[in-house]
Amino acid sequence: MTLTALAPGKTNLCLFLGETRADGLHELVSVIEPLSLADELTLEPLPGGAPLAAAVGAGDMGCAAGEDEVVCAGVEGPNLAGEALAAFRAVSGWEGPPLRLTIAKRVPVAAGMGGGSGDAAAALRLVAHAAGRGAGDPLLAQLAPLLGADVPSQVAPGPVLVGGAGEDVRPLPPLPPHGALVLPSPHALSTPDVFRAADRLGLPRSAAELAARRAEVEAALARGELPAALLVNDLEPAARSLCPSIDAALAAARAAGADHALVSGSGPTVVGLFLGPDGPAAAEDAARELRDRFPGATGAHPVDAAFAAVRGVWDDPQSA
Ligand code: ATP
Repeated sequence: MTLTALAPGKTNLCLFLGETRADGLHELVSVIEPLSLADELTLEPLPGGAPLAAAVGAGDMGCAAGEDEVVCAGVEGPNLAGEALAAFRAVSGWEGPPLRLTIAKRVPVAAGMGGGSGDAAAALRLVAHAAGRGAGDPLLAQLAPLLGADVPSQVAPGPVLVGGAGEDVRPLPPLPPHGALVLPSPHALSTPDVFRAADRLGLPRSAAELAARRAEVEAALARGELPAALLVNDLEPAARSLCPSIDAALAAARAAGADHALVSGSGPTVVGLFLGPDGPAAAEDAARELRDRFPGATGAHPVDAAFAAVRGVWDDPQSA
């Protein structure tokens, strides 16, 4: 009665920022890919069948999500994965046993790699499996946008082109082979702060410009390419303005041989792209070289839904 799943961190190979919509979210066009740097989630019935939330408390080791418990060292406060469990129960009506979800964090937190969103998406895959539903159950796609703009793209991890504010997700065929050097930062950045800085700096593009960039991205993807001119993150100047040490990480990734270096999402993590079939090995080598200066430097590669699939056995009579 234990299920496990990996929750890949993501990076944005490009992120073009548009204007703010009526709901306060920015329009964007982004190519997002999941990486092998992933959190590890384990779902099991709560031992004893009774909530342990009171015993564990809401400190940095765990927090209560209704009758379910989330244990996630390194993340304080309400956990998005717990909200995913609660949302699943509320909407599906599933009355399975109280659950304990344990998250081993590997993806840097508040770092532009969508770690919380990835965990929420993985929690949905896990609880859906426990409830006897498949990973492709439409309920997951229905719940994901309610949990956050970055969750829909991570329900079935794979490269995607996103539009809207992240809710419009189009799966892509595999991109040309490459590796990714991930350089985490000792600092954290709040995503809303970075979007506010982008507004202050006047970075959002007009609707016409955003549509033009989207057309360029789509044309390049149709040719199976993503040329250097499109490997752009419009949020990068905003993240750099709030976290100037990003500049040293960008320079280090380039000096270590990355073909391109850019801030991941809202930052401050920097990703160096190493193109070609040898890219993943080159990214690993660069990570080893830089680990003294950048603790947590990791070589990663793109992954797919099979990497993130639910594994294990669940024998809940409620599932039948
Ligand atoms: P995004 O790229 O989706 O905007 P991010 O990568 O910048 O997000 P996260 O790692 O998702 O940031 O963390 C953002 C905040 O979400 C953290 O400050 C943390 O308090 C909260 N959070 C809630 N649940 C989680 C989780 N499972 N993992 C990480 N952070 C979480």
